[in-house]
This record gives sequence, structure tokens and C-alpha cells, in this order.
Amino acid sequence: MTYVFNRAPQASLAVVDSEKRFPVRRVFCVGRNYGAHAREMGHDPDREPPFFFTKPADAVFDMPDNWPYPPETNDLHHEIELVVLIGKGGANIEKANANEHIFGYAVGLDMTRRDLQGVAKKLGRPWDWGKAFDFSAPCGPVHPVSETGIIEQGSIWLEVNGKSRQSGDIADLIWSVPEVIEIISRSMKLQAGDVIMTGTPAGVGAVVRGDKISAGIDRLGKIETMVS
Ligand code: MN
Repeated sequence: MTYVFNRAPQASLAVVDSEKRFPVRRVFCVGRNYGAHAREMGHDPDREPPFFFTKPADAVFDMPDNWPYPPETNDLHHEIELVVLIGKGGANIEKANANEHIFGYAVGLDMTRRDLQGVAKKLGRPWDWGKAFDFSAPCGPVHPVSETGIIEQGSIWLEVNGKSRQSGDIADLIWSVPEVIEIISRSMKLQAGDVIMTGTPAGVGAVVRGDKISAGIDRLGKIETMVS
């Protein structure tokens, strides 16, 4: 097969203690998956089924030292998330078997142009311009589940310039990782390489150029970047 021009590089993430990389296929993101965050966004978490949005594969990349501030926003928000990397695909996966489909986990940021997302919400338009922009999902290295075990609890946190912004526990996910895998795979056949960003705890807020973001999840280490 030859193409009319050189195809773009495969989006991928580093895997800890390995020369190999995780090839990214699609990126599914869960909206409002921690009760306190749903409430801070003006919703009742007890009454809503989960919903999803997506990002392009190449929005995912290794967390850089300097993360580029995107265009067309004056209200750029951080969202720390547990990222689940699918290693084995399937349709109609049952939650009891869902963990077998996980290759590993990473710490990731669902960076959000909140002002553009707000306009989209108000007008009933898609969220893509708020959520799916270039470099919108920087992630730390992938930790294989063979090393971490299944992650069902543990602290998830984010600091800006050394001050705590977000703090939560994976155990507080409204829809657990196995439930999310079950629900997505009912609508679309999951494939190896698919990435799931599982939602963010309360405390989202704006960052500006020069801010230093540090964030981590128990067993997955810490990521750091400067908004540049
Ligand atoms: Mn999010």
C-alpha cells in the first residue's frame, strides 16, 4: 500500500520499564463520573446515566515538560483522570469479565476549553471544540495491570503551583471501570488500543501560561508539566 503522502505517525504512549509503546486507537471520555464534580457543574449525579465524548487518538501523547496553551480560549481547565488502556477488544463485554480487557493504566489530563464547552452546552452543540483540540490529553506512562493489579481505589489528586486543586478517590467513581467498559462495548466494539478517560473529581479550575501542574494517582506515580 502506498499513500498520496506520508501517513501521520501512530499515536502512542510510553510503557514503564519497556522499550515498547502502547498504540492509541480511539479515546473515549466519561462525563461527570464523580458526584462532587457533577454537582459543581450543576447536575444531580444520582439521576443521570453515564454519557461519553471522544477525542482524536493523537490528542493523547507523552506528558511533555512544557504543555502548549491552546488557541481560542480564555478559560482553560485541568481535569485529572484515571486513564484505562484496553489491551483486548470485544463487544457486549460483561462487567464481571471487563478487567480481563485492560492492558494497563495511566495518569492523564482531560484538558478543557471550558468557555467553548460552555457555549456548546448552551446552544446544544457538540463538545469537540471544547474537548478534542490538539494536545488535549497528555498522559503519563502506561503501567501494565500485571504490575499494578486492578485499580479500584486510591487517591487521585492535582496541584497547580504546589497548591491543591483536585482531590478524590478512585473508589468514588459513580460508574466503575468495569461498568464503563460494559456500557461502551454495548454500543461499539472495543478494540485493543482504545483508551478510556474515566472522569475527573471535583475542583476543576483554570490554568494560565506559566502555571506548573503536578498530578498523580496511587500506584501510577506523578506527572508534571508547565503550561507554556
Ligand atoms: Mn473529563
